[in-house]
Amino acid sequence: MAILDILTVPDPRLKQVSKPVEKVDDEVRALMDDMLETMYNAPGIGLAAVQVGEPLRIIVMDLAKEDEAPAPRYFINPEILETVAEELPYEEGCLSVPDVFDEVERPIRCRLKYLDYEGNPVEEWAEDMYAVCIQHEMDHLEGTLFIDYLSRLKRQRAVAKVKKAQRLKTEDAA
Ligand code: ZN
Repeated sequence: MAILDILTVPDPRLKQVSKPVEKVDDEVRALMDDMLETMYNAPGIGLAAVQVGEPLRIIVMDLAKEDEAPAPRYFINPEILETVAEELPYEEGCLSVPDVFDEVERPIRCRLKYLDYEGNPVEEWAEDMYAVCIQHEMDHLEGTLFIDYLSRLKRQRAVAKVKKAQRLKTEDAA
């Protein structure tokens, strides 16, 4: 396994629309293994393949709490089949927008289908944090970031903050 570089805003590759996976094979599973390790290392609770520069419809996630055993989830070609009308604000963050958190309103439940790690089809309801997280990650597959839901001013501030942090990191390394 390997830790991959996570793209951060304003990298234009984050705006790509990801392509469906044609076959769930060992190559896809190796990418998911690397994505999971990268996500744990960050640390984060969800990661889409496009965030590591692979515009494929693949997501990894782990919503286990700190005192719980790891519970990795893998989603290939996920689709949201329906959502409930009720929305709740939830404070979101993103590994591609490090150290920026803000509230986004999303439906609190959604029904989705996807292929799992072995390529088997799954259909289920997601609620609460699972629902928020899968909707956030699926937005990545369309090139949408959670800061796109914020006001233009907040979005500009977020991107400026990330750029500045990146610049300081590069200077430190030099
Ligand atoms: Zn994200």
